[in-house]
Amino acid sequence: MQFNHMQKPPDDANATITKFPLPPCHLCGGDLKESPGYSLLGQVTSDCRPWQGQTKLAACCTCGAVQKPLTPQWHEEVAQIYESYSVYAQAQGAEQLSFDVETGANSSRSQFIANWLRQQAHLPESGLLLDIGCGNGSFLNAFQQIFPHWQMIGAELDDRNRALVESIPGVLSLHTGQLTDLNQRFDLIVMVHALEHIPRPIEFLDALKSLLTPTGLLFIEVPDLHASPFDILITVRTLVNACFSGLLNQLASS
Ligand SMILES: [Zn+2]
Repeated sequence: MQFNHMQKPPDDANATITKFPLPPCHLCGGDLKESPGYSLLGQVTSDCRPWQGQTKLAACCTCGAVQKPLTPQWHEEVAQIYESYSVYAQAQGAEQLSFDVETGANSSRSQFIANWLRQQAHLPESGLLLDIGCGNGSFLNAFQQIFPHWQMIGAELDDRNRALVESIPGVLSLHTGQLTDLNQRFDLIVMVHALEHIPRPIEFLDALKSLLTPTGLLFIEVPDLHASPFDILITVRTLVNACFSGLLNQLASS
């Protein structure tokens, strides 16, 4: 997303521009330019609650990544949001359905991804899976139904859904510590709408290399700001544009 595509803010919105330097871009270390007027918009948490945040929106002058600068304010608000986080709360924990634009058929996002993996990834009959940001286990459930002989580990920030996740057939455990504490090696690591929440994603992905087997695969799904511009209002997502191909290029050259 280019900054000049954004709607021109009212003149007095310039007053919202920070008087203090922003932290550097957390992808490339470049200087950030703040988007005036962002704080006039209502925000939302990614578990669909209104959020009147004070976080900022900025773009990197070097790599172009649109992001929430990693200010103390952003960290504080994200901690508050996760404190009372309830995944898919409006559907009593059930994952929402997605609709195929051509056929109209519906399935959950997790079912769609598990089916895609069956058709495209040529996974073996058995293996070990790590689901980073597994929530209440929606993807683990869907994956288990298609790959019943795999063993799985879910990873989350806290253990509020431990009993639910560990009741899913094939799940060995829910891991809530540092990922580097895991002593297994995985045939498949999935990150479904997780990477955009993670500060300094290049360092994070680089560390994941050591958790994969030599033939292991990493599956990442991230939002597409062009298809879903609403995502720019979600406070906990620090990366909000489709700049992930650039991110992967940086990772490959590191
Ligand atoms: Zn940058």
